[in-house]
Amino acid sequence: MITKILSTTKHSQFLNITSLVMEALGESGLKSGTLNVFVSHTTAGITINENADPNVTRDMLNILDRMVPWDHPDYKHSEGNTAAHMKASLMGNSAQIIVEEGRLQLGIWQGIYFCEFDGPRERKIRVKVVGK
Ligand code: ZN
Repeated sequence: MITKILSTTKHSQFLNITSLVMEALGESGLKSGTLNVFVSHTTAGITINENADPNVTRDMLNILDRMVPWDHPDYKHSEGNTAAHMKASLMGNSAQIIVEEGRLQLGIWQGIYFCEFDGPRERKIRVKVVGK
């Protein structure tokens, strides 16, 4: 398993971590198989989506904010960050990508995003490869 540390800079943001994941893939030596990237946090997620137009992830953040407001009178969680937990679950905490010839088989418009919902913080991603 390979651990990579990253720092988020905003309260909520989609951080393109494709190059960080490619770095981990290079360290793993994997040529053919699958790469799993896992976020070991409860207020951050991971997703794969468009890497070309930054308005896509901006729109996604705006939609998530509308779907899950930060404050709501029904929230009971004492830490006060229920919205961050909810958004993390909506995005999911892992992604799996096929690897062939030592390269991630992402589509040309796809990027891997770390989804911060309660930053800024230092965060970790875990990468595990399966194959040879
Ligand atoms: Zn909490």
